[in-house]
Amino acid sequence: MEKWEQSLKDCVTSPEELAGLFRVDTGDCATVSRRYPMRITRYYLGLVQKPGDAIWRQCVPQTEELADFSQSPDPLDEERLSPVPGLIHRYPDRVVWIASASCPVYCRFCMRKRGVGCAAMAPAAPEAALAYIEAHPEIRDVILSGGDPLMLHDDQLDALLSSIRQIPHVEIVRIGTRVPVTFPERVTARLARMLKKHHPLFINTHFNHPDEITPQSAKACATLSDAGIPLGNQCVLLKGVNDDPQVMRRLMLKLLSIRVRPYYIHQMDLVKGTAHFRTPVTSGIRILNALRGHCSGLAQPHYVIDLPGGKGKVEIPSGKVRRDGATLYLTNYLGEEIAYEDLG
Ligand SMILES: *Cc1c(COP(=O)(O)O)cnc(C)c1O
Ligand code: SF4
Repeated sequence: MEKWEQSLKDCVTSPEELAGLFRVDTGDCATVSRRYPMRITRYYLGLVQKPGDAIWRQCVPQTEELADFSQSPDPLDEERLSPVPGLIHRYPDRVVWIASASCPVYCRFCMRKRGVGCAAMAPAAPEAALAYIEAHPEIRDVILSGGDPLMLHDDQLDALLSSIRQIPHVEIVRIGTRVPVTFPERVTARLARMLKKHHPLFINTHFNHPDEITPQSAKACATLSDAGIPLGNQCVLLKGVNDDPQVMRRLMLKLLSIRVRPYYIHQMDLVKGTAHFRTPVTSGIRILNALRGHCSGLAQPHYVIDLPGGKGKVEIPSGKVRRDGATLYLTNYLGEEIAYEDLG
């Protein structure tokens, strides 16, 4: 057994232990965790400075999770868009492959909260998923997601990547993982050596708060970057965690300093059990305006809403554009409206 597997066994999964560690009343944590499981790595829990802070809110079950009756468990209609279970085909040229149903830490805001960590979600059966991709030459991008694909053992993941790589029309493979953030010790030299065989491979990770960038998570990202894997970051706008322009700005700049390129800021999906994290879209626009022009272009993510019903991601623009005949009026980062003569 590898060292990371040992550590995984040692995660905090009991609300009683959590209450004891922090000497707080964790309230309905036990009831909530029977519906939506709790697991927190010792490493990630070590980032908590005090109960209720940004790290705590992301990983400790809260009463509100059970009090959210308004929303759907699957607003993006992922199950309807799965031609074979565990493979989501929404856009013409790319598919999402559920490679694992578990994660080192169960994030309270997870968009697949309906099933992640429970029997309700099963990884795609590899034979069926491969057969589907083989039969669809328009698929050129396969995105391994979950759950967390890096919960698989190196050998399992190696086999999976090799079989995807056998399909000539698949040009790139992406892995979406929160492991560098919540469980950096999983990113071993052995893992990086294995991944390196499967280029072109991209990894999108999921940092939500600058306090998640530590020497350990920075080292995990460096190990992946040094294996030639371009790293991007998808974060979610979360009330009480990062819905603040200064926090987001620090996050984006710190990401660049560890060679991770900001990719998306996601508006929260309307997922049942997560309503207490939602913020208005104006709050995301305020964040964009604090970034655009004020810091490096490399630090600018796309702010997107994933539309209900699986209608796709749409980018929310930050700037205003007004047209009068051939003249465009564009508002710059200082709030000045500047005329630009377009071709008539
Ligand atoms: C987000 C998503 C993708 C990938 O979208 P990109 O904009 O290419 O990163 C693909 N399929 C589904 C179902 C998705 O939700
Ligand atoms: S790591 Fe990702 S898939 Fe797993 S619980 Fe967190 S958000 Fe959900």
